[in-house]
Amino acid sequence: MHIAIVGAGLAGLTCARHLAERGHRVVIYERNAEAGGRMGTRQTELGGFDHGAQYFTASSDTFRKEVAAWRKAGWVAPWAGRLVSLDQGRASAAGRSGAQQRMVAVPGMGALGQHLAQGLSIRFEQTVRRLERFGGQWLLAVQAETVAIDASAGPFDAVILALPADLAQPLLQPVSPLAGEVGQEHLAPCWALILGFQDELGLPYDGAWVQGSRLKWIARDASKPERRPGEHWIAHASPEWSTEHLADDPERVKEKLLKAFHQATGSQVRPVYADVHRWRYAQATSTLPGECLWDAQARLGVCGDWFAAGLDGSGRVENAFLSGLALARAAA
Ligand SMILES: Cc1cc2nc3c(=O)[nH]c(=O)nc-3n(C[C@H](O)[C@H](O)[C@H](O)COP(=O)(O)OP(=O)(O)OC[C@H]3O[C@@H](n4cnc5c(N)ncnc54)[C@H](O)[C@@H]3O)c2cc1C
Repeated sequence: MHIAIVGAGLAGLTCARHLAERGHRVVIYERNAEAGGRMGTRQTELGGFDHGAQYFTASSDTFRKEVAAWRKAGWVAPWAGRLVSLDQGRASAAGRSGAQQRMVAVPGMGALGQHLAQGLSIRFEQTVRRLERFGGQWLLAVQAETVAIDASAGPFDAVILALPADLAQPLLQPVSPLAGEVGQEHLAPCWALILGFQDELGLPYDGAWVQGSRLKWIARDASKPERRPGEHWIAHASPEWSTEHLADDPERVKEKLLKAFHQATGSQVRPVYADVHRWRYAQATSTLPGECLWDAQARLGVCGDWFAAGLDGSGRVENAFLSGLALARAAA
């Protein structure tokens, strides 16, 4: 089959690799200039920062096996960060299970997408705007960065949307009843604060779940393996605060989140570098049961981290992997 996949995040890349291994002709359309999606690394003058996914765990045998292969290839490594719970500057034991090893891609989270993309046919900076039925096949209306009008791509025997639910739904709406199921799911936003300090903060931890704050998580990026040394921190605002301040001016968001960082850590050291990134769709607010959706007659499918995929909860790298794999198996 000639298959189009929309989205080169973990779900789309996993799906594409398995379909290509089974001899299908796969083309991925990705609106960004690189693969990886929310598992990304922001490049700055100080080096890379993991501004999206922080680390991942593996609870299923299938994903554990895959992660072992990535580790053998030198693509990922364990992160032995000291993690705590933080309340108004006071750190206490995190109270979260330490049973699962926390893994990160090296030298930055974005590197995994680049490895997984090797050998795949990916059209970067091409946004799919519409799906159209063409006889028994599919055409895609694709917008390229440099071209004013949409181009038509295809025909394809099958189309797979590996996107956040909120982005898959409008593409499905005019062409498929799957839109109804996808329309129930939403992903909450997340404002991320990126900080570089000249001086050491001297904090006795590498990451913290923050209580009673507009922040929910902070991490010392350079405590992860193979990162550039330096006092580099990432802070993520809570879904509630991010939703409320979604349309705010980034400069104001930066100020507010920096204040919250100072309050949470008790450190007043000023950063030499500060920036923010707005993730419009960060993590699922609810979980769609099942692994993926596949309409065998129309040959149209949807996968992503908002499917439970046999796990307890959603919105994680493991969900994206298992969902992409399940859809490849269903489609093949
Ligand atoms: C701030 C933040 C923190 C997180 N922390 C963790 C964590 O600690 N642990 C964990 O396991 N997970 C975490 N996650 C979640 C994790 O990043 C995701 O579960 C996973 O990366 C999702 O992969 P995906 O392939 O389903 O979606 P995505 O990575 O979103 O991939 C979708 C891709 O589709 C592209 N796209 C969208 N629309 C179009 C279009 N119309 N045409 C073409 N391309 C399109 C996008 O550019 C993107 O590359 C975090 C996410 C965020 C944002």
